Amino acid sequence: MVNLILFGPPGSGKGTQAAKLIERYGLVHISTGDLFRYEMGNNTPLGLEAKSYMEKGQLVPDSVTIGMLRNKVEAHPEANGFIFDGFPRTLPQAEALDALLAEKNTSVSGLIALQVEDEEIVKRILLRGQNSGRPDDNDESIIRKRIAVYKQETSPVFDYYAQNGHSHSIPGVGTIDQIFDRLCQIIDAI
Ligand code: AMP
Repeated sequence: MVNLILFGPPGSGKGTQAAKLIERYGLVHISTGDLFRYEMGNNTPLGLEAKSYMEKGQLVPDSVTIGMLRNKVEAHPEANGFIFDGFPRTLPQAEALDALLAEKNTSVSGLIALQVEDEEIVKRILLRGQNSGRPDDNDESIIRKRIAVYKQETSPVFDYYAQNGHSHSIPGVGTIDQIFDRLCQIIDAI
């Protein structure tokens, strides 16, 4: 099994690249942001709870997020591996992911971070917000809050996987295909 974490700040292109990677490598894509938006769209209790955090640019509590992730992984016993996009975003989430994969006799193969400068992120997300219908993509102060949360709460996850040599990073700028080629080079060497 190949289990990849696609890492990087909001707006770094994780979703775009994940869509291409699942085609090439036959992996199951799990985006916790997409899962929360799906729940919100259906007005489920989970969706309503997530909404109150997402609209402020804060993280949804670990207990909620980890439970949802576990359900999604367990719904795919046939998977050859997973691409985790937007998860783990905290150290407890990383520890929970390791424990979950260990139960299935597998582990994280690698984490790849897409590096993009803050001002470029703000520009990209505002542009995406014109079509994405996401309230959190349309307000610059919320976008900046999401970047701050990434730096403070999420970036330690990079160091966590770096301890056993599993963290990599590549420039997240250039064309979609250039970035995809950089990702494939790393994945093929894992
Ligand atoms: P994303 O689509 O990955 O940018 O996520 C959008 C929002 O969903 C984030 O700003 C958080 O509020 C929430 N979210 C997504 N994934 C997670 C996660 N792993 N942990 C906590 N909150 C999350």
